Amino acid sequence: MQINLLKADITTVPADAIVNAANSSLMGGGGVDGAIHRSGGPSILEACKEIVRRQGPCAPGDAVITTAGDLPANYVIHTVGPIWNGGGHGEAELLESCYRCCLDIATERDIRSISFPNISTGVYRFPKREAAEIAIAAVRSFPFGDRLETLNFVCFDDENQAIYEKLI
Ligand code: ADP
Repeated sequence: MQINLLKADITTVPADAIVNAANSSLMGGGGVDGAIHRSGGPSILEACKEIVRRQGPCAPGDAVITTAGDLPANYVIHTVGPIWNGGGHGEAELLESCYRCCLDIATERDIRSISFPNISTGVYRFPKREAAEIAIAAVRSFPFGDRLETLNFVCFDDENQAIYEKLI
């Protein structure tokens, strides 16, 4: 498994699956969530609404999969990161769970390449360095089969890029 570090808008990076840092409602929002819905078109929101109708909102730490609409991908995996609240409310465990749940879903499908944004480090205010350490540890300890070949950490801001460059 190849791990790449990219600085890019995740909606422009071709991959079998693009991970979205969504919120529990799955109804879209700002940041990377907004960019994914804008670039992918309305079919993603329709699929999210159907999931919420069937099973309710997505809990923090969990993930669901939908079509990727017009994005250069087959799937979007929507995961709900924890909102940072000082660190004593299970934030680290929930963030780790986001990465693991996405990889669990990816390994159940025919997904060979996957791109992750820096979940929770925007509006949800998770400290970037700690979030990167959790993301990298979660990926490195995941029991990959032989299907997933490429994993991209896609940084959008300079600070995250510098942190990931140091850690990887
Ligand atoms: P959260 O609510 O989980 O914090 P945000 O979207 O606010 O989600 O931020 C998560 C990360 O996504 C931030 O590091 C932000 O810089 C990054 N980001 C924002 N837009 C994009 C994009 N188009 N592609 C990749 N990453 C993005």
